[in-house]
Amino acid sequence: MRQSKLFTKTIKELPKDETSFNAKALIRAGFIDKVSAGVYTFLPLGLKVHNKICNIVRKEMNVIGGQEILMPALTPKEFWQVTDRWNNFDALFQLAGSDKKEYALGATHEEIITPLVKKFIFSYKELPTYIYQIQTKFRNELRAKAGLIRGREFSMKDLYSFHADEKNLDEFYELMKKVYFKIYKQCGLLNITYLTYASGGAFSKYSHEFQTLTNAGEDIIYICSNCRTAINQEIIKEQTHCPECNDKNFQKAKAVEVGNIFKLGTRFSKPFNLQYVDQNGKHKDIIMGCYGFGPSRVMATIVETHNDDKGIIWPEEVAPFKVHLIGIRNKELGIRNQIEKFYQNLQKNNIEVLYDDRDDVRPGEKFADADLIGCPYRIVVSERTLAENSVEIKKRGKEKCEMIKIDDVINYFKK
Ligand code: ATP
Ligand code: MG
Repeated sequence: MRQSKLFTKTIKELPKDETSFNAKALIRAGFIDKVSAGVYTFLPLGLKVHNKICNIVRKEMNVIGGQEILMPALTPKEFWQVTDRWNNFDALFQLAGSDKKEYALGATHEEIITPLVKKFIFSYKELPTYIYQIQTKFRNELRAKAGLIRGREFSMKDLYSFHADEKNLDEFYELMKKVYFKIYKQCGLLNITYLTYASGGAFSKYSHEFQTLTNAGEDIIYICSNCRTAINQEIIKEQTHCPECNDKNFQKAKAVEVGNIFKLGTRFSKPFNLQYVDQNGKHKDIIMGCYGFGPSRVMATIVETHNDDKGIIWPEEVAPFKVHLIGIRNKELGIRNQIEKFYQNLQKNNIEVLYDDRDDVRPGEKFADADLIGCPYRIVVSERTLAENSVEIKKRGKEKCEMIKIDDVINYFKK
């Protein structure tokens, strides 16, 4: 992509009421635009990152046999009444339709998926089944001050699993824990993300959170550096030893919840009467699990944990582009043509590249923009590097520059 064609620009003026680092960095670099508290537009660069995170999640959900669907955001009141959550779900946006019916903007989708599955699944032969979506959720959050960490409108991957018995759910639940870590690894969050006993119930086996350590986090967790057990402070009093391995190094830390998995049991299948017929012709309740992951919150968490005073440092797999190519003196036709050829060659070799081809911008400003945007590699091509048939490559976040021969660049990225 040519930077001269990008309709957004990096900006200096930030919205006055924006306090979170992730939103400030993302707005300044032109990834998102603030519409209202907790409500943002994803701009071309931001949407690219968001899509990459979604595609990592989608790929992993498909590998384990998840089937993707898309449920509506507009959900009728009567569905929520079946589970008694119309008046009991925290932060549900409610509105009236022209048909005098009331609706909620989907904050979660158990109320839609359960009756949906009831239309299709009848026999033990059709279990287990895993269904997911990646969709916009709405929650009327009280404190929407943390940028993309706490949106009123945000993205969620929610997978729902349907099983014949608890044992089958338990096995799938354990598999999902591993799959989630695979996803956080690809998002660059592996080493700072902990599997945490959730705040839902006393040392609950029924729910786990994935918490990423960052001072921007709104949760406090205890973590054991020995066995990596973590517990949300909300479910324990002062704790000095790890309850799993009894290690004394059990410390408090701030963290953000980037995922949450639950064993729902029959909480939703009972009210909707979702049953199956077993091998002996007996009717039984379907056992359910639910697995949430927040792509937009993960995007913010990456920004909070991967940055320096110059801007964002994207992990490679979620970066908007792998390479930020900076042309210097590209008003001069000879140089411009050579850079152009190099740019085309990178693209031909499937290396994603943002090409700063602007000829009315000073080099210093181009470098500052590249640091702000945070692509993993910066490549500078100028008269000086061309004289040596080379380009200058620098990794974002590192000081060292390398001169690499133009002909070796593709191999450099293949290694
Ligand atoms: P929190 O306790 O932070 O409010 P939650 O426990 O209510 O979150 P879940 O219902 O478990 O959230 O949602 C599943 C996932 O969706 C969360 O782990 C998080 O990654 C994401 N998520 C939840 N609420 C928001 C929000 N307001 N903005 C962005 N992402 C969110
Ligand atoms: Mg949660």
